[in-house]
Amino acid sequence: MLGTIAKTFAKDIAVHTYTAPEEGWVVNTQIIELPAELFIVDTQYMLPFAEEVAAYAAKLNKPISRLYVTHFHPDHILGAQVFNMPITALAEVKSKIEAVGDRVAAEEHEKHGDRIAKTAVKPTQIVAPGRETIGEIQIDFIRMQNAETADALMIAFPGRGVLVAQDFLYNRVHSFLGERSFDTWAAALRDYQLNATKYRILLPGHGQPAGVELYGENLAYLSFTKRLLQDVRDPAIFKSRLVSAFPNYAGRTLLDHESRFLFPPKSASA
Ligand SMILES: [Zn+2]
Repeated sequence: MLGTIAKTFAKDIAVHTYTAPEEGWVVNTQIIELPAELFIVDTQYMLPFAEEVAAYAAKLNKPISRLYVTHFHPDHILGAQVFNMPITALAEVKSKIEAVGDRVAAEEHEKHGDRIAKTAVKPTQIVAPGRETIGEIQIDFIRMQNAETADALMIAFPGRGVLVAQDFLYNRVHSFLGERSFDTWAAALRDYQLNATKYRILLPGHGQPAGVELYGENLAYLSFTKRLLQDVRDPAIFKSRLVSAFPNYAGRTLLDHESRFLFPPKSASA
């Protein structure tokens, strides 16, 4: 297998975290194993890695009852065709993928050819923020706004202390800053940090599962990069300063992806 699997157990649920290798942006698909079914959260960037996720999930011998995509970024949506089932998303995320998903797919397909989907599979089912109970297990669906992206889904299991945060949190992987919501993202991180006893197991969208230390690490990264972006106008210098400040961080391919968002060509309009 090209990716890696980390397993996290909390009472009667397990989360199998598939992490892609560097060329797949170190992105995670979370396979949430409930007593009688599986939820899959996010679908990978490259098709070969999505296929590894599907093969791994099949071996768990439980039906995949839901396939969620948390937000519209390419590394979360472009593997969806491999799963061949309806996609569930927040209403805002569904609309966004309908509006720009095919353009996003075409841009990434052009970089990598047939390892990337040509078009985006559109969500057909909506999840509303709120609580659902399956058997004994409470599940909270949370709409996170203006953090890594304008609208993102998080899935929490309050009775199990588990937060499937996806790209609200990164673990030692360079974060995607292209939407530039430094202040609102940091404010939300501080809110969660203040209530850190609520969830002790955090599942980030990139990098390994971890604990509440992730809030502080993500805050430090955001404050460093916000200041760096005020000082530096050159994408190559930005990247090299960031790499030397965080030498052990994976996801340098993500820095290349975000460059055109942080340093748009001068001729381009907003
Ligand atoms: Zn991501």
